[in-house]
Amino acid sequence: MSAAPPGTIVRECVEGYLYSAPPLRLWIFRRTAARGGGWTPITGKVEPTDADYRAALVREVREETGLSVSGRIVPLDWQVPFDAPNGEGTWRLHAFAVETPRGWTPTLSAEHDASELVTPEVAVGRLFYPDNREAVQRVVERLVPLLPPGSTRAPQVFREVGPELFAAIRADRPRRLALQVPAGLVRNAHDLAAEIRTATGVEVFLAGRACFGACDGPLPDEVPGADAAVVLGHAPIPNMVPTVPSYFVEMRHPGGDPVRLAEIVRAAGLPRRLGIVASIQHLDLVEPLQRALAAVGLEARVGSGDRRLAYASQALGCNYTGAESIREAVDAFLFLGTGQFHPIGLAYATDRPVHALDPLRATLEPPIDRGALVRRRQLLVASLRDATRWGILVSTFAGQNRTATALALQNRARRRGWEAEILTFSRIDPRDLEGRAFDAYVNTACPRIALDDSALYPKPLLTPPEFLMALGELPLEPYRFDTYH
Ligand code: SF4
Repeated sequence: MSAAPPGTIVRECVEGYLYSAPPLRLWIFRRTAARGGGWTPITGKVEPTDADYRAALVREVREETGLSVSGRIVPLDWQVPFDAPNGEGTWRLHAFAVETPRGWTPTLSAEHDASELVTPEVAVGRLFYPDNREAVQRVVERLVPLLPPGSTRAPQVFREVGPELFAAIRADRPRRLALQVPAGLVRNAHDLAAEIRTATGVEVFLAGRACFGACDGPLPDEVPGADAAVVLGHAPIPNMVPTVPSYFVEMRHPGGDPVRLAEIVRAAGLPRRLGIVASIQHLDLVEPLQRALAAVGLEARVGSGDRRLAYASQALGCNYTGAESIREAVDAFLFLGTGQFHPIGLAYATDRPVHALDPLRATLEPPIDRGALVRRRQLLVASLRDATRWGILVSTFAGQNRTATALALQNRARRRGWEAEILTFSRIDPRDLEGRAFDAYVNTACPRIALDDSALYPKPLLTPPEFLMALGELPLEPYRFDTYH
C-alpha cells in the first residue's frame, strides 16, 4: 500500500472539553509520565465501529472518565489537523464541549494519573498543547450564551488606577498580583506598583515584559505565584480568556477639544460622511466629537464591531470590524489616537481614505496611501510564490494564539508539496529566527509583526491571507487584511 500524499487526513479524532456549570469550570486531565505528563482534555481516535464523531466522543469519555454522557454536547466547530504521533500522515481533531453532572468526579483510566476541575483561566494557563488553550476560548464563547447569567466571571474594567480598582482587589484578596504595563507607561510603573501595594495590602510583582494589547497579558511562568493581574492601558477582549483573572485599567484620557477638532476637520475639506474609530484612551471623545462635527455640517458614524471588540467605536490593530460595518456608508475615516499602526491597519481593512486625528496635539494627517501599501505587500507575495520552505510562527499569548490556523496552513502547504514547520513562542523575537534555513515565514500572531516590524526580521514575513495568496488559494486582488475574530 502506498503512503498517503502529504497533508492527506488519514485519521479522524475527537476531543472533549468536559465542563460543569454554573459556575463554569472545566475538567483537565494529566497524562501519565509515560504519555508525556501534560494536562489535556479527553481525546481519542474515531473507530470504524463509531457511528459518528459524537458516538466516538461518548465512547472516549466513558472509557477515560467512567462518565455515561447524558448532558449537553456542544460542537465547537473546531477542526485541527496535526501530525500523527506515529509519524503516519496527518490526523484531524473535532472538538466538543461535554456537560458533566454537578458533583460528578472522574474515574481515571490508565491514560491519566490526575484530574482537576478548574476555571477557564487556569485551564488556559495549564493545558499543554497550544491548540487546547486556544480551544478553551471557544468553549467559553460557545457556552456563555447557553448558561445562566453569572456563570462566568465578567472581566473587571476600570478607567484609572484609583479607589475603585483598589476596592475590587481588596474584595478579591489575591495572594500576589502581576502588574503589566505597555511600553509607554514603564517609566512610572514602579510607582503604580507601590501605590497598588500600599492601597490594597497585596503583594505586587512588576511583569518585566511590556504588553502591546490585552492579548498578551502575563503568562503564569512570567510572574510565578500571581493569581491575578492588573493590565494597564487596554480594554478586555471579550472573547479571550486570560491566563489569570485580570483587572483591566483602560487609562482613559479626558483631553481633546471637540469643537476645535471639528473645525480642523471641516477646514481640511474632508468628505461629509465620516466614520470614527478611536484607540481606547480616546473613546470618551467620540460622542462629543460627533456632535461637534454635526454642528459644522459633517455626519460622523460609529459602527459596531464583533466579539473581539469591547466598544463600538474601538479599533484593535487586528480587528477593524466596527469600521468595516459602516464602510459602505462613509467616504473616509477619522482615527482618534496617536501613531501610524492603527490608521494603516484601518486603511488596509476598509479601503477608504483614513485620516489620523491626534486629539491632544490637535493635528490632522493627510490620508494614508493604501494603494502603495497594498502594492508593496502584493509584490512581496508574488516574489515568494516559489519559496518552498516555510516557518509558521505561533504565539502562545492567550489573545494571539492561532495554533489551529497555523496547523491548517501547514496542512495546505504540505498538500502543495512545500515544507512547513510550526515555531511556537510567547513573544516573537527576530533574533530567534536568525540562522534558520527557511525561505520565509507566515506570522499567525499579532499582525503588527508582519505589517509593521518586518524590516527587523531576517526573512520575509507574510500574514495568513497573504500566505494563501502565495499558495494560489486566494487572488492578490482584492487584498485581504489579516483579522482576528
Ligand atoms: S494581536 Fe496585536 S493588534 Fe491585536 S490586540 Fe494584540 S497587540 Fe493589539
